[in-house]
Amino acid sequence: FDASSDFHDVIRTIPDYPKPGIMFRDITTLLASPEAFRSAVDTMVAPYRSEGVALVAGIEARGFILGGAMSHQLAAGFVPIRKKGKLPHETIRVAYSLEYGVDEMEVHRDAVAPGTRVLLTDDLIATGGTAEAAVKLLRELGAEIVGACFVIDLPELGGRRKLEAMGVSVKTLVA
Ligand code: 5GP
Repeated sequence: FDASSDFHDVIRTIPDYPKPGIMFRDITTLLASPEAFRSAVDTMVAPYRSEGVALVAGIEARGFILGGAMSHQLAAGFVPIRKKGKLPHETIRVAYSLEYGVDEMEVHRDAVAPGTRVLLTDDLIATGGTAEAAVKLLRELGAEIVGACFVIDLPELGGRRKLEAMGVSVKTLVA
């Protein structure tokens, strides 16, 4: 498995999902490949091995799969950032915009102690609205965000620039 070129080949594009006109990048094929999954996680954590990451925060749901593996590699803890109503303990919430309307995501109020070094992850950044909301939640808890990393960037949608404008450095495997 040649990581530099082959991540593209293990991500498939599903036309018209979840609705007409959307080209959905499907990473289940990457996750199902032992070589690709391992290589993706190894590549994603490599820049952060000496960064003192204490927690990886993953965005529901594919960010949980990547973030769990990354936490193990970094010997860090894991914090789930979830759609509203899924977390059992006291939470803080933030609204974020979807293509049509708004939704809310939340995190446990006691999930991150102030000053904790947190790495944020998800499978894909498009407009950046989802990741921006996650950054707001983590910062409200006092997290120091070491960076945000994704398998896929859709650069024309501006998500990377949005996060960088918030002072968050962004790394992605493929664009
Ligand atoms: P954004 O908020 O940056 O516009 O959208 C990113 C969020 O939507 C991420 O949580 C991501 O999982 C999901 N998402 C949007 N488009 C795609 C896609 O084409 N493929 C995958 N796997 N996720 C997507």
